Amino acid sequence: MDNIQPKSGLLSRISRGRLVLRHAPDCRPLTGQIARNEEHRCDVPDCHRSRWKLGSRCRAHARHYEATGHPTARTIRRGTWRPWVVEAASFVGQQLRLAHPGIDAAVSWAAGELFGSGKAARRSDPRRPHTGYSRALARLRAGGVGPDDFVARWVAAYAFRQLDAEEPRSQRRSFRDDSHFQHQAAKLLLHPQPLGAPAWARQHTEDGSADGTAVGRINFSVRRFAFDRVNAALGLLAFRAADELNKRLGGSRSATGDLRPVARVSHDDAPFLTSNNNSTT
Ligand SMILES: [Zn+2]
Repeated sequence: MDNIQPKSGLLSRISRGRLVLRHAPDCRPLTGQIARNEEHRCDVPDCHRSRWKLGSRCRAHARHYEATGHPTARTIRRGTWRPWVVEAASFVGQQLRLAHPGIDAAVSWAAGELFGSGKAARRSDPRRPHTGYSRALARLRAGGVGPDDFVARWVAAYAFRQLDAEEPRSQRRSFRDDSHFQHQAAKLLLHPQPLGAPAWARQHTEDGSADGTAVGRINFSVRRFAFDRVNAALGLLAFRAADELNKRLGGSRSATGDLRPVARVSHDDAPFLTSNNNSTT
């Protein structure tokens, strides 16, 4: 075996038929650290599995944290988000028509995010989350999600969070902590299809390619990046808009989804019209 040993000797050696770096940095100490760490129990209460690698949680809870932003909390489903997105979109639309300067600036900013660079990174690299973010934006464009939807989603996330935080029993809250909220908000933001649309309109994307369910998962670092970036631009506005939206919704919706008491709509006795005012007769 010695005759195939590389001359430099210092760099690599053959071990059990494999070429390994002789001076692989921290390889041995890390193995020891992992072994010692894995003797401890997972940090999640009532979990009796041992820790995974260098983390404080077992493999299952570590994976769940990567997927949701929390080791045990659930992903907020699209059906839960939908009414919030519909209300927020209607609010954002109204403020746009009334030329609210902040909402107008937010939608302009979102348009710049969605259509500005035109540079779509081809592969998502976890060490460079902005490439994953720009890929996700490209999917939003292809799915027909516009800048006003983009802003409405952020307002919706904040509005739901504000109402949810009022739930006195923390076990019943939808968002378990800041990290959980941030990851769920980013998931909502980057969902590649309009959420308010009826089911038949959600089947295909504009270019006829794979539907939204086929798109790859948006990874942990991309969600973190997206949250921080969008929040830096829209955070304060979304917070204030969410506050206003919740005030306007008043007691009409509770966190448990109860309906408000029903009353006759106004003007239900107005005569029906045959043409609008602008038509020439
Ligand atoms: Zn565990």
